[in-house]
Amino acid sequence: MAFSEVEAFLTGEPWVPFENRPKLELPSPSERRALFEEGRFDLANRARAQMTRGVSYREFKVGCSVLAWHPTEGPILYDAYNFKPVKKEEKGEAKRCAERNAIRFAEQDGCVKIIAIVTASREKSVSEKYDHDVLHPCEECRSLFRTVPAIDQDTIVYNILDTTPPLPDEEIAQHRKAVMDFVASTSLPLPDNTIIHPPLNTEFDIMAEERTMQELQELYREK
Ligand SMILES: [Zn+2]
Repeated sequence: MAFSEVEAFLTGEPWVPFENRPKLELPSPSERRALFEEGRFDLANRARAQMTRGVSYREFKVGCSVLAWHPTEGPILYDAYNFKPVKKEEKGEAKRCAERNAIRFAEQDGCVKIIAIVTASREKSVSEKYDHDVLHPCEECRSLFRTVPAIDQDTIVYNILDTTPPLPDEEIAQHRKAVMDFVASTSLPLPDNTIIHPPLNTEFDIMAEERTMQELQELYREK
């Protein structure tokens, strides 16, 4: 279900197709940065929540939250996690990195600009040319970034190392039970799938690196 259809369902407003809505002006790079600053904490927490849902045969979990601009809807957030259930070499589209998945969702909805790409992981290195303290987008993702028209040199890349310990299993189990009870008590669809995520440890102790797309590209060009 597209974002606008969910919105229409929840508000009871008649659904107006995107193409029939008034177009909004694309914000300038500095206005886009201000939108990112405003959403930074929310984006970080969403990426962290997605990380807990990551699927990896070697427990290499990554979550991503993307802040995108839609021509009629304005800023929209998209979330995704990585999906690699079996050990197998995958290239290009077949590699389901969290970043690729979130960017594809934004593109499918018709977003014209990716304002920020935020990732969270407990991993530090992808064992490429040199070590780094936080997980950077992999080579496949970096080449994807160069081909997506909605991504430009001002797109912000914010990579988080989430060192907070996971919550105890019993606390997560309690949360899941509360969610299932809620689902059973209502016929409404869940308004936001973030509530079915395992709860995050709220001790928000993170290390992060932030750069523009241009800076990311330069970093990998010089090494
Ligand atoms: Zn990747």
